[in-house]
Amino acid sequence: MQSFRLIRPRTAQEAVSAAAQGGAASRFIAGGTTLYDLMKLNIERPGQVIDITGIGELHRIETAGEELRFGALAPMSAVATDAVVSRDHPVLAEALAKAASQQLRNMASVGGNLLQRTRCPYFRNGAGGVYPCNKREPGSGCAAIGGLDRSQAVLGTSEACTAVSPGDWPVALVAVDAGIELLGPNGPRSMPVDALYRLPGETPQHEFTLAPGEMITAITVPRRNAGRLSTYHKIRDRESYAFALASAAVVLELEGDRIAQARVALGGVATRPWRAPAAEQMLAGQRLTPELALAAGHAAFRDARAGHHNAFKLELGARTVADALIIAAERRP
Ligand SMILES: Cc1cc2nc3c(=O)[nH]c(=O)nc-3n(C[C@H](O)[C@H](O)[C@H](O)COP(=O)(O)OP(=O)(O)OC[C@H]3O[C@@H](n4cnc5c(N)ncnc54)[C@H](O)[C@@H]3O)c2cc1C
Repeated sequence: MQSFRLIRPRTAQEAVSAAAQGGAASRFIAGGTTLYDLMKLNIERPGQVIDITGIGELHRIETAGEELRFGALAPMSAVATDAVVSRDHPVLAEALAKAASQQLRNMASVGGNLLQRTRCPYFRNGAGGVYPCNKREPGSGCAAIGGLDRSQAVLGTSEACTAVSPGDWPVALVAVDAGIELLGPNGPRSMPVDALYRLPGETPQHEFTLAPGEMITAITVPRRNAGRLSTYHKIRDRESYAFALASAAVVLELEGDRIAQARVALGGVATRPWRAPAAEQMLAGQRLTPELALAAGHAAFRDARAGHHNAFKLELGARTVADALIIAAERRP
């Protein structure tokens, strides 16, 4: 049993000040669906937990303006079922609705979802010291490389780590060029969601680019980039309550019967939410056919590297992209 100090600030500024005082041992908590798990597994050992759920302004969902704005504490279920989001931005609604379970989506926040940690079994189940994991114990090695690697990444891997970035929502957000608003000890700032994630390289323990004590306050989506011709297509071992083996977030802008611009991002196959520019370039200016969709899917995996048991992800991933493109195009009025 770990003991920790619990703080319940009423404003975002109070929360950030408490984090600055608590230093590296501080953690914010929102829905708690990830953090408490990791504490029980002895992977996270915070000395101070800052419960931000009492900060009213962080719960707000705004869909009327030029950009959509989701407070970091908005529940996943509320954003997934918001009338504007589900009608005009299916890629966002579907990414949320296909994640976890209804009960979890009711508890979990859209901000906390961005910061969940990998489900790599060697990361989560080895805290007793049975298996090495560079993400959990830097420098200890990686048991997944050469081990049971069926669920591991094929894109963005390094000699130190092949753990998959587990979230669905971040993949959709990267596809629509979403941003995050932050508040930290040095004041507010914003950045693209894409810039939140690091590649593992030699330091897989550093997954995010947040500065110490920085809190996500909101997620913003430019209205122009998210549209009705979009989808989040997720393939998993069972049809609900499972993480992606491969997923694709696709947003299409059509001019007549040609693709003016395609946005494609991948989940379940990479060490971070993965934009696929090679696929996007292949599609630009073209008429979508099943053959082109599959070629674009394969282009997305051109730089992929498989291990012993996960080579199936290359073809599964390509076909997931292809199917997503067809589904999105069929949403044309
Ligand atoms: C059984 C199970 C199945 C799941 N399946 C899926 C799935 O299929 N797809 C999927 O995408 N997810 C899945 N999840 C993960 C789930 O979606 C996340 O646990 C959830 O979104 C995290 O949100 P939370 O509010 O509970 O975060 P918390 O657990 O409260 O926090 C998570 C992390 O974010 C930090 N944090 C939280 N809010 C902020 C903030 N505003 N600013 C800065 N830091 C913050 C915390 O310190 C912590 O490190 C699953 C989870 C479980 C338990």
